[in-house]
Amino acid sequence: MLNIVIFGPPGAGKGTQSQLLVEKYKLAYISTGDALRAEMAAKTALGLEAKALIDQGQLVPDQMVIDIVQNVIIARQSSKEVEGILFDGFPRTVLQAQALDRMLEHTGSAISCMVSLDVPEKELIERILIRAKTSDRSDDNEETITKRLNEYLLKTKPVAEYYIAQGKFREVNGLGSIEEISDRLISVIDECH
Ligand code: ADP
Repeated sequence: MLNIVIFGPPGAGKGTQSQLLVEKYKLAYISTGDALRAEMAAKTALGLEAKALIDQGQLVPDQMVIDIVQNVIIARQSSKEVEGILFDGFPRTVLQAQALDRMLEHTGSAISCMVSLDVPEKELIERILIRAKTSDRSDDNEETITKRLNEYLLKTKPVAEYYIAQGKFREVNGLGSIEEISDRLISVIDECH
């Protein structure tokens, strides 16, 4: 199994690169951000609870996303068509990373590596503001972006240390064309399994 975590701040390009990686390595894909937006669009109780936090640039409670991911892992377990899972936007806290290790352990697998996209903060803000013109994401505005970046530095960045300690952390330069960046990702992923 090739289980990858794609990591980086908001606007780093995780979603774009994920689409390419999923195809190349025949992976199942889970984006907790997409899953939460689907709940919000369907106006479920979970979606409404999430929306209040997401619009403030805050993370949703750990258990909310752990439950979402658990369901995907269980569903994938019985599928023979995929060769692993790509996690995008999860884990975003150390507690989530610990929970993910336990969930995978139950299925007899583990994270192969975390690939991190390194992009300077000024570029991140520019990219999200450009995306804001075409996306209907209520959290893509200047005020919320600053809060999301703060949450990232405070709660999410320490997750890198968790994978560094396990020898599973790989960082690539997130500046350049989409193809240049995916080539960099592919060369580190090929080394980690
Ligand atoms: P981005 O990477 O651009 O911030 P995402 O689509 O990954 O966008 O996430 C959007 C929002 O959804 C986050 O700002 C956060 O509020 C919430 N969210 C997504 N994944 C998680 C998670 N694993 N833990 C907590 N909150 C999450």
